[in-house]
Amino acid sequence: MIAESLAVFAAALPLAGTTVYVDAGHNGANGANPAAINRPVPAGTGGFRKACDTAGAQTNDGRLTESAFALDVALRLQRRLQQAGARVVMTRRTNDGVGPCVDERAAIGNRARADIALSIHADGGPTGGSGFHVVAPARDHAVAPAIVGPSLSFARSLRARLRAIGLRPAGYIGGDGLVVRNDLGGLNLSRVPKAFVELGNMRNAREAALLERAAHRDRLALALARAIRRTLRAQKR
Ligand code: ZN
Repeated sequence: MIAESLAVFAAALPLAGTTVYVDAGHNGANGANPAAINRPVPAGTGGFRKACDTAGAQTNDGRLTESAFALDVALRLQRRLQQAGARVVMTRRTNDGVGPCVDERAAIGNRARADIALSIHADGGPTGGSGFHVVAPARDHAVAPAIVGPSLSFARSLRARLRAIGLRPAGYIGGDGLVVRNDLGGLNLSRVPKAFVELGNMRNAREAALLERAAHRDRLALALARAIRRTLRAQKR
């Protein structure tokens, strides 16, 4: 029966026909290339510019950088999404390059016409603080106002799925794990629904130890994949 086979196929590949943009924050050689990384680039409308990128955070013991952590979670997420049938567009697949700049990170998702875009980070917060937070674009999004609602829904779903695996919203930043920002070029210039996740505070010793564990990164990738899947399913309706 053809109809039955198609139903089985759809159940096995729930993300078939969708495009997901996965942006691993920063890059491993950013810190060694300050001239390239500090150069101002467009980061919003009205001439708003910011540095191309930053080196990102690292743990206090220096063993783990945000760029390496973000890439590893991004690759784990990519595998899960591809297994579910999604086309996955990645900013980078190695951790030895420079950039790209934040405007290009938005442009990659736009060019891919991604159904959803996620930028993966870990924070460099106060050493006494811990927990995750999600960042959604501001309501006054000038480039593509239509993405504000879907992006906020996505951010809420990310928060719910991260909570569901036992993570706590960051206590040091407010917003109960969901922060709206209008100063991030990667969000301001996106024409596709997008959110950022800060998956933990690298400067907190206990959380840093957790972020180093492969099993924890797998759980994080699973939670992110679930949020993406739920959001895309809701979009289709
Ligand atoms: Zn970051």
